[in-house]
Parts: sequence; C-alpha cells; structure tokens
Amino acid sequence: MNRQKSFENGKPTLYLVATPIGNLNELTYRAIEILKEVRYIAAEDTRNTIKLLNKFEISNKLISHHEHNLTSSIPKIIDLLKNEGNVALVSDAGYPAISDPGYELVKVAIENDINVVPISGANACLNALVVSGIAPQPFLFYGFLDHQDKKKKKELEELKKYKETIVFYESPHRIKRTLQLMLDIFGNRNIALARELTKLHEEINRGTIEEILEVVDTMKGEMVLVVEGEKFIKEEIVFEQSIQEHVDEYIEKGMSTKDAIKEVAKLRGISKNVVYQDYHKK
Ligand code: SAM
Repeated sequence: MNRQKSFENGKPTLYLVATPIGNLNELTYRAIEILKEVRYIAAEDTRNTIKLLNKFEISNKLISHHEHNLTSSIPKIIDLLKNEGNVALVSDAGYPAISDPGYELVKVAIENDINVVPISGANACLNALVVSGIAPQPFLFYGFLDHQDKKKKKELEELKKYKETIVFYESPHRIKRTLQLMLDIFGNRNIALARELTKLHEEINRGTIEEILEVVDTMKGEMVLVVEGEKFIKEEIVFEQSIQEHVDEYIEKGMSTKDAIKEVAKLRGISKNVVYQDYHKK
C-alpha cells in the first residue's frame, strides 16, 4: 500500500501539470505558480513547451521526457527528485499520461516513495464529452485506436458490446475510415465529433455516424470522437414489426420513403443501406 499525504510529508514531489490544448489562457494560476517554483520541468517536446514558458515568463530548466527516451529520462528524473528538488512534468497539450508520456514515470516515482501531485487543467477527452450531448457517465476513455485496419476492427468488435459512452482520439487522416468501420461494426449510433477544441475554429458535430460521414471530408485539425454506448441492439430486439412494416408505418404517417428509411435506420441503430435494401426487396 502507498498512502500519500501530498502536502504533509515533506517528500519530493513530481507534479503532473496540465497545459492548454489550444487556448493558452487555459493555463491556470496554480500551474504557472508550480512551473515557476519547481527546480526542473520535464517536457515531451522542449521546443513546444518553451513557447508556453516564454509567454508566462517562466525560465526554469527544461529537460526532455518523451516516449523514445524513457529508459534514460526516468532514472534521471528520479535522481533529480531525490537529490535536487521538485519536478513538474508537462506534455505538449492537456494532461501528461493521457495518451501522452507520463504513466511509466508515475509508476517509478510511486515505487520510489515520491509524491505524485496533479495540477488541474485542460483535457481534450473531458471537454468533448461534456459538450457532446451524449450521456457523460458511465464513460470509457479509449484514446487512440490502432492504426492498422485489422487491429482496429478487432478493437471495435470488442468495444461493440460496451454500454458506456466511449471517447476516442483520432487523427483527421484516419477519421473517415474509423467512422466507416464503426458504422459497419457498431451500427448507426449517435456520435459527436469535436475538433479544434478551445481554438478559433472549434466545431462540435453531433449526429449519427452516417450523418457525420457525409461531412467528415471537410474536417481538419485535432479531433475527439464521442460514441454512444450500445443501446440500439436492445431496442432492435424488441421491435416486433419487420423493417418493411416499420418503414411503411412512417410513410403512412406522412414521411417520404427516404426520410422513413432514415428514421428507421436511426431507431434501429443500423445503416440506411441495410434498411433501404431490405425495404426494396418487397
Ligand atoms: N494529453 C492530451 C489530453 O489530455 O487531452 C492528449 C494528447 S494526444 C497525444 C493528442 C490528441 O488529443 C489529438 O490527436 C486529439 O485527438 C486530441 N486533442 C488534443 N487537443 C485537442 C483539441 N484542441 N481539440 C480536439 N482534440 C484535441
């Protein structure tokens, strides 16, 4: 067991300092205070962090800690913590350790009886989740899916049964393919695609996977994808009428065939094509 009384035990401290994900005004007063006060700042990319430090007139010594130098940077940081003073860890954006380097250092710091203290701030996952309009809890933060199609499909197959809202990070180059695979594997769920959060061109796109797929080619920048958990499958089971009867019901209510197909696809959580093909079989 490890019991940490963060501000009472006089032990060295590794601060995990959240930094802005776009708008630089989102660096908190406390973060600035800690970044000024510590002996060293360990950064994912020192060239990026220096810009932030310059803006807030912070001139502490920067050291490098990224996924390719962990084996040398971790012992170095632990040594600094034990012998020279407190260290702040920052990533390029948001929280260190969230889809960013940090976790391995945190583990070793805890093993070495060093305090690990969070300094709150911006995070892309939570920002997207709260504005998504999709149930914020329970939620699962997944981060990045594998880049390879085969592995990505396997991951999505495993996630398909989750009832929790799922949050993914994704790159603009891969988002279209990811949405196509999700449509095939999850069905036509409600999603929110948030891009460029806290920046000038911030945009939140809420709709079904099919609706977002129609416009996704126009979207660039950093993205978070919030996906509704499995719930349509339950609804699908209780539908007593066939897909054809279901579409006819909406046509009788005055909808065009196209809109009725779209509505039934949405209600059943399946793709418009599946409903279209089933309906036109008759
Ligand atoms: N540590 C960060 C955090 O706490 O959110 C995440 C870092 S991860 C390497 C970078 C990914 O986070 C991007 O590819 C994107 O999916 C997401 N992201 C970061 N900043 C964002 C922003 N301003 N708007 C939307 N997504 C963002």
